[in-house]
Amino acid sequence: MNKNVTIVGAGLVGSLLSIYLARRGYKINIYERRADMRKTAISAGRSINLALSDRGWRGLKGVGIDEDIKKIAIPMYGRYIHNRDGSTAYQPYGKDTQAIYSVSRAEINMKLMDLAEEKTGVKIHFNERCANINRNTLTADFENIENNTCSSVQSDLLFGADGAFAASRLNMQLQNDRFEYNQHYIDCGYKELIIPPGPGDKFMIEKNALHIWPRGSFMMIALPNPDGNFTCTLFLQFEGEKSFEKLKTRDAVQAFFEAEFPDAVPLMPSLLDDFFANPTSSLVTVKCYPWTFDNRIALIGDAAHAIVPFYGQGMNCGFEDCVVLNDLIEKHGEDWTKIMPQYQNLRKPDGDAIADLAIANFIEMRDKTADPVFLLQKKIEARFSEKYPEKWTPLYTMVTYSPHIRYSTAQSEGQRQQQIMDKVMQMPDIAAKWDSDEVEKEILKLL
Ligand SMILES: Cc1cc2nc3c(=O)[nH]c(=O)nc-3n(C[C@H](O)[C@H](O)[C@H](O)COP(=O)(O)OP(=O)(O)OC[C@H]3O[C@@H](n4cnc5c(N)ncnc54)[C@H](O)[C@@H]3O)c2cc1C
Repeated sequence: MNKNVTIVGAGLVGSLLSIYLARRGYKINIYERRADMRKTAISAGRSINLALSDRGWRGLKGVGIDEDIKKIAIPMYGRYIHNRDGSTAYQPYGKDTQAIYSVSRAEINMKLMDLAEEKTGVKIHFNERCANINRNTLTADFENIENNTCSSVQSDLLFGADGAFAASRLNMQLQNDRFEYNQHYIDCGYKELIIPPGPGDKFMIEKNALHIWPRGSFMMIALPNPDGNFTCTLFLQFEGEKSFEKLKTRDAVQAFFEAEFPDAVPLMPSLLDDFFANPTSSLVTVKCYPWTFDNRIALIGDAAHAIVPFYGQGMNCGFEDCVVLNDLIEKHGEDWTKIMPQYQNLRKPDGDAIADLAIANFIEMRDKTADPVFLLQKKIEARFSEKYPEKWTPLYTMVTYSPHIRYSTAQSEGQRQQQIMDKVMQMPDIAAKWDSDEVEKEILKLL
């Protein structure tokens, strides 16, 4: 077959996908709506840090660029909980060496584009907005947003990697009878803030941890950056007693932060300016089907499965899409009549599973990480799993550190474990005997 491939979107997934395909001899042109971010400043308040975990690393390793990315990543070995009364607690993610990694979204995106261009000759066209895709002729129309010109590009395969609000997906929706589409906004939005470095670029809170200020219906998190600052994200309801709608004045914001995050306030000298300068953004889950069309067009990354960020898996899942697609190319060569349906059949259940797990983890992070019953349950699970690793892998470990376990398997196994733990937590005096033989035997029996 001819090997001309169009990718819409040079985000994280489009850029990585281009490297995978170019290494297999495909000729890749990526069309990206934005200007080249390596030459222009990114807008304030959209600096996002992402947690990169084992599935993501597997995707990067598959094309030999993991070491390049490691240079711009900071390991986080656990959650560092900040309580309202100023006390703190550290919860390791797993065994000593298990970590998730903080990377700046812009940094990793720029690095991936560099690597795509330098190592594989991928051509990225910037300021090109995809306006239309003709499914029959496989022609995509692009509008150049700098000079208002239009062009049409015909190719042999086309991938829509244009993110949560993908034009490629919308085009397929319009041209596909019975296209299923579901979009759900949670009641909570987010705003980015900053904890700058101290003198000599000192990290002002523990560097190698993901910081969480859990407060029931809302929370703030902070992830480290290599230059000593932390990107903080406040997740808060749009409306209600404690919500963005109540934070309209500098006094209201100051009072809210002093009451809710007293230990963070002295570390955030530009809090009020940042709060009003940075946008409040919404969080969406998108599920759709099909993901492939005529064995020539596929959706990938957020275009196929946008999820809320509370499991830190959106990018990781998109990178895993690339790994699965690559494995299928390995298996079927250039037979896209086999690759496309199998890609869709394998990935759709996993995209749905991680979307649901991410919503569930929202509740866990904002609410339960400060709940003594939840913490006790986690302690029991951790003890049991340490003793019987072959019988019990905690859900978080399956999702984050076990790239060979499918998301859908992790989800169903997690549900089974939760049913067992619901019974265990009902045992009389469980708080006193959580580490007893009796509890261990009960779990073994229930398993
Ligand atoms: C607050 C927040 C925190 C997150 N934290 C994490 C985390 O910790 N870990 C994790 O794994 N994931 C996280 N994510 C998710 C992660 O950011 C996404 O899953 C990831 O960016 C998806 O990559 P993508 O390439 O599919 O889409 P995107 O990164 O959105 O890239 C899409 C690209 O397509 C371009 N584009 C859009 N429309 C068009 C068009 N019409 N024509 C041409 N180009 C177009 C865009 O400009 C963009 O460059 C988080 C997301 C948010 C919002």
